[in-house]
Amino acid sequence: MGVPLYNFAELHNDQLKKDVLKRFENILSKNAYIEGEYNQSFEKRFAEKQGAKYCLMVANGTDALEIALQAYDIGPGKKVGVANISFYASAECVINRGAEIVFVDVDPDTGLICPKSLERTIKQHKLDAIIPVHIYGMPAPIEELEKICKPHNIKIVEDGAQAQGGRLENGKPIGSSDNLTTFSFYPTKNLGGMGDGGAILTNSDELATKITSIRNHGRSPNGHALVGRNSRCDSFQAAVLDLKLDNIDQLSKQRTEVAGKYNEILSSSKAKLMPKRYLNLSSWHMFPILAKDKDEQLALCKHLNENNIGATASFYPKSLPEELPIKDFPGEKENAVQFASRCICLPMNPFLKDADIQEVAQQINSFYL
Ligand SMILES: *Cc1c(COP(=O)(O)O)cnc(C)c1O
Repeated sequence: MGVPLYNFAELHNDQLKKDVLKRFENILSKNAYIEGEYNQSFEKRFAEKQGAKYCLMVANGTDALEIALQAYDIGPGKKVGVANISFYASAECVINRGAEIVFVDVDPDTGLICPKSLERTIKQHKLDAIIPVHIYGMPAPIEELEKICKPHNIKIVEDGAQAQGGRLENGKPIGSSDNLTTFSFYPTKNLGGMGDGGAILTNSDELATKITSIRNHGRSPNGHALVGRNSRCDSFQAAVLDLKLDNIDQLSKQRTEVAGKYNEILSSSKAKLMPKRYLNLSSWHMFPILAKDKDEQLALCKHLNENNIGATASFYPKSLPEELPIKDFPGEKENAVQFASRCICLPMNPFLKDADIQEVAQQINSFYL
């Protein structure tokens, strides 16, 4: 049998394919390949769904981070605090802006940025911005971070690449805060295109205008207002994403149901689960559990893979401060190194059946016997 990590066969079913092709034909008939009607529709609907005033589509989630930093004037000479557990892009964007990384450590139980570590870090480093990550779909403690950052005028870019469908601790959708929030529409994300795509959400008129300009070579109504880049989102991706918005809430609901069943069936197992309070907040992009240590992580992962369970050690085998090209930047990292060496991500997608969940649980329990 076995249980896969993703399930594109069900996600991209025959009906969806038919609907996508109809939209592609519409684009071809109009020769409107860039920033067309589907972009406009998606930007309006996605902003509404996430509780933001504006959604600006860009070419991918990494560009979204870089452009958000540029919108906040982060460049050479500036320092950005980066949450230690994330995909490499959350740190890479700082370097590509010509700024410097300062690592901020995470909560050892969740991998989410730790406000205490941030407080210690800003005593030693003059930060200009931070990048908290809603890792695996769980919300970073944004209100706490805002309280710490505001007196120091530190800007916040929330990396929400994994968090579409998730909610902040105040119960509002991720993307609804007054910070810039970035999303990725890479195909495996909760809301994925059929190629690359990304977006930045903001409530600010001024930042929305600036981001609109940056993504299109710094263009303004009177020529070029700044040095930007090309990070437009093409009409084909927008057509797919706009279509997928129709049932994304249903798929999110199914993810939460799967997570609830995992929580119940694994509550008596030796693996440590994420705190219960995230059950109805997380987007459940991944279902992470924690092994006792690195040896147990590798052994459990191997056991699951040998039984065709699509689990991955940590999803990110290293914390960001351990990645070679950026390992010399300063900051705290102890909890992140430990978290990355213990975390295992179980198969998670909206189409897992009760039998799949039981099979995964059975294999975990047989490992600990
Ligand atoms: C996927 C991802 C990104 C990058 O998005 P791309 O669209 O692949 O460029 C950034 N941050 C996190 C946390 C991600 O998961």
